[in-house]
Amino acid sequence: MTIEAYEELRDAVARLCTKFPGQYWRECDRQMSYPAEFVQALTDAGWLSALIPETYGGAGLPLSAGAAILEEIHKSGANAAACHAQMYTMGTLLRHGSEEQKQKYLPGIADGSIRLQAFGVTEPSSGTDTGSLTTTATLNKGHYVINGQKIWTSRAEHSDLMVLLARTTPLTAQMKKTQGLSVFLVDMRDALSNGMTIRPIKTMMNHATTEVFFDNVQVPVENLIGDDGKGFRYILSGMNAERILIAAECIGDAKWLIEKTATYAKERSVFGRAIGQNQGVQFPIAKAYANMRAAELMVREALRLYEAGDNPGAEANMAKMLAADASNEAANVAVQTHGGFGFAEEYDIERKFRETRLYQVAPISTNLILSYLSEHVLGLPKSY
Ligand SMILES: Cc1cc2nc3c(=O)[nH]c(=O)nc-3n(C[C@H](O)[C@H](O)[C@H](O)COP(=O)(O)OP(=O)(O)OC[C@H]3O[C@@H](n4cnc5c(N)ncnc54)[C@H](O)[C@@H]3O)c2cc1C
Repeated sequence: MTIEAYEELRDAVARLCTKFPGQYWRECDRQMSYPAEFVQALTDAGWLSALIPETYGGAGLPLSAGAAILEEIHKSGANAAACHAQMYTMGTLLRHGSEEQKQKYLPGIADGSIRLQAFGVTEPSSGTDTGSLTTTATLNKGHYVINGQKIWTSRAEHSDLMVLLARTTPLTAQMKKTQGLSVFLVDMRDALSNGMTIRPIKTMMNHATTEVFFDNVQVPVENLIGDDGKGFRYILSGMNAERILIAAECIGDAKWLIEKTATYAKERSVFGRAIGQNQGVQFPIAKAYANMRAAELMVREALRLYEAGDNPGAEANMAKMLAADASNEAANVAVQTHGGFGFAEEYDIERKFRETRLYQVAPISTNLILSYLSEHVLGLPKSY
């Protein structure tokens, strides 16, 4: 099925989003509060479990359906960042978890009684260099004991489970940095009374992101996902899906921004005519539109390859970079075209400008995507 084919699904998501207009998002943004009602509505409608197989209570839809859902949310001016991770984080459990783990958690995630929204990979000292993370998990009498710190663990305060990457084998000179890492499903409800502390980080947009500290947190051995030591590979295997889904959100942002901007340029009259009659105003909007459409084609190509069973690292990365560039460009053009009103809260443009800026940096920064393409596609020497 192609992404164009999700007309009914898109209509239904768009209808749900009309219940959460700009005013709702502005209020959440002002209070820096979690959009709990929006996440609940998406959960109740089943959109967050769209990718979970039917055997575990989900809709069993392919990745392109997830992309259509997230794009539509963003195209309506809303923001799926409060819950999008559930779509791709659950893939780690689905692809690498045991049947017992899947039976235990996936039906609850699908019906909304368990939230799997947190993904703990990044650390303050390692940054993008994931292999040098220092959080450890040490096996001791049927438990792994976790010590260390994560940063930018988004939605940790609003999640029941966290997918956590930690070092289980100390790094030696003979090992690759990416060896000896393992993935755990941490039950945060238990961990909170057992050595785990969450500290929110205030950011330029409303993102519910946090620092998480682990002080001898015990995780039962049965919560190890897959084999001990192979965690980096498991995390990596979900990254293409993550990049494609985030790219779809950026396309949604760009569409919303361009539509708002073109409408404003037609309606705003200065010097006795619509500002959009000036080529100096219309060309940047047209350019942003063309770049958005080109990025959208790359998102579709990445989806096509992904659903054909490939592991399209290059296309997923390019889709994410081009779509993030397109939404960033559209946000800039939107602020410029709105003049002073681009800065006014009630137009929602400045909010989207802040929200979509994130995707130049997270979940992977543009430089690292360019490094990937240089090395793995163009055969240039590895630069780091
Ligand atoms: C709001 C927010 C939410 C996030 N949510 C999560 C989450 O839920 N879970 C999680 O695990 N992480 C999360 N992250 C972390 C995010 O993935 C990282 O911020 C991102 O990967 C960049 O890592 P860093 O911040 O450590 O930057 P660094 O790695 O310190 O890089 C800083 C800058 O240097 C550049 N740079 C670094 N090395 C090179 C190089 N070799 N060549 C060229 N340029 C280079 C980078 O491109 C970047 O621009 C989130 C981040 C933010 C801001």
